[in-house]
Amino acid sequence: MKMSCRQARRDVTPYLEGKLDDREMAAFLNHIGECPKCYHELETSFIIQYALKHMDDATDRSFDMKNILKEHIRRSERMLRRRRIIRLILDIVGAVLAAVAVLVLLHILFPHVIDPIYYLERFLAYLKGLF
Ligand SMILES: [Zn+2]
Repeated sequence: MKMSCRQARRDVTPYLEGKLDDREMAAFLNHIGECPKCYHELETSFIIQYALKHMDDATDRSFDMKNILKEHIRRSERMLRRRRIIRLILDIVGAVLAAVAVLVLLHILFPHVIDPIYYLERFLAYLKGLF
C-alpha cells in the first residue's frame, strides 16, 4: 500500500528520532524517494533538528546539510537491507529446524517406515538446488 503525504509528514519526526519500525521506515523512505514535497519537509525538519543538536560546534563550521541528510537516508536503507537479509536467514534456519523436528518425530512414531537420514539428505539436496 502506498503511503499518503499526510502519513509521511507525520512520520518525519519519528524517522529522524529513529522510532519507526522496519516496515514503517521502508514505506517512509519509499515515499520520500518519490515525493519531492515530503522530501523537502524532511529536509527542513532535519536541518532544524541537526542545528539544535550541533548548536555548539556549528559556529565555526558550515555543514552541507543536503548531503548529510542524503547520507542519513542511505544509512537507513543499508540498515533495512541488512535486517531483511538477517530475517531471511533466520526464516531459513527456522524452516530447516522445523523440518528436522518433523522428521525426528515421524521417526519416533514410525521407526520402520521413516528413515530421517534419507529424508534429511534429500532435503539438503533440495536446498542445494535452490542456490
Ligand atoms: Zn508526499
